[in-house]
Amino acid sequence: SYQPTDKATVLAGRRAHFGGNLSLTYRDPVMLLRGWKHHLFDEWGRPYLDAYNNVPHVGHAHPRIQAVAADQLKRMNSNTRYLHPAQTAFADKILSKMPDHLEVCFFVNSGTEANELALRLARAHTNAKGMVTPDHGYHGNTTGVIDISAYKFNAKGGVGPSDWVELVEVADDYRGTYRRDDPQRAQKYANLVDPAITKLQASGHGVAGFIAETFPSVGGQIIPPKGYLPAVYEKIRAEGGICIADEVQTGLGRLGDYYFGFEHQGAAPDIVVLGKPIGNGHPLGVLVTTRAIADSFAQGPEFFSTFGGSTLSCRIGTEVLNIVDDEGLQENARQRGADLITGLRDLQSRHQAIGDVRGMGLFVGVELIRADGSEASEICAYVKNRMRDHRILIGSEGPSDNILKIRPPLTIDAEGIEMILKTMDRILSELSEN
Ligand code: PMP
Repeated sequence: SYQPTDKATVLAGRRAHFGGNLSLTYRDPVMLLRGWKHHLFDEWGRPYLDAYNNVPHVGHAHPRIQAVAADQLKRMNSNTRYLHPAQTAFADKILSKMPDHLEVCFFVNSGTEANELALRLARAHTNAKGMVTPDHGYHGNTTGVIDISAYKFNAKGGVGPSDWVELVEVADDYRGTYRRDDPQRAQKYANLVDPAITKLQASGHGVAGFIAETFPSVGGQIIPPKGYLPAVYEKIRAEGGICIADEVQTGLGRLGDYYFGFEHQGAAPDIVVLGKPIGNGHPLGVLVTTRAIADSFAQGPEFFSTFGGSTLSCRIGTEVLNIVDDEGLQENARQRGADLITGLRDLQSRHQAIGDVRGMGLFVGVELIRADGSEASEICAYVKNRMRDHRILIGSEGPSDNILKIRPPLTIDAEGIEMILKTMDRILSELSEN
């Protein structure tokens, strides 16, 4: 049977046997043993509001996910070298949410793997290697995708930039070069791709493509101005490159008004990458692309992933997408997200430390600033840790780590939103009291 043990023992064991760069969130880490919807429970059974985890998309410990997993594990679980209706059912369900030009699915085990595969497809289709990508992005933890993840390669101790990758400034219209008062900012940010393309062409790498988190998340919960991605895509396609939308953070209804972030942009990607939420915690990544790109890739060696597209994975993935529909979770994300953003804007009018509130649905960022407008990393750390003291889990992001990240499971209710707002209000008041 499962033996809960005390937090100090687990922490000591972790320090003794795990790598030092496996980080823990919060000054006083939490140990979580049970979950239900957007609630988590620690070793004492104390409840926490999970306002951070996007992986349990349809909620922690969903009974339908448990039932499907148990049922499939009792029957059999195998790979894509054998036929199974669950594989095609999963592809059909995903493709029902995609634009018509995307018709081929690849199943893997993580967002990282899906992005690795995206690089291979881009190279196979274009015979080029060069990639353009926004600064501060994150696409995964392997050698290949670290090279397109400035958030990691430019971090302290990181491997540094590669000559086949050109970074462009994030289309951050709060803090970046072009701000919200500039109606041309989408096009101006897109134009930054021009010199990047020129460099890649000159270096001989050519342009295999452009990859971006549709809404940059680790870059600071940024919503690029409408029209940014289509303008970039046009430039990339003019060079024969392909356009990859990493929807790991933004996809599957989280944005409320849109099922995918690229819909907001009016963009038509050539490859869409899905991860995290699509398995609700079961390791699952998916790449969706056009027939033409899949055909180019099929000229090369066989593609196989032992666990990618396993019967179990396909059944769980399909069930997650069905639950989003059956429980109206995209609509819930729209309503609860609107309440949250309205409430945070009210806090912004009363607390000078809030410089910006941005987001869509349940993808939300709160940028904390000092009196002079600079990035208040210390205030951000304070608020995040005080929220944790009140047993509300949120995160922080951005190049200066001064943006609170609120990204709950899509089940969060009005009471949960009220808890976040009232607690944050009290904590922000502590700043002026101290
Ligand atoms: N892309 C994005 C946008 C992500 O946020 C992440 C994970 N944080 C990944 C890719 C990598 O996914 P995984 O950790 O599942 O490999």
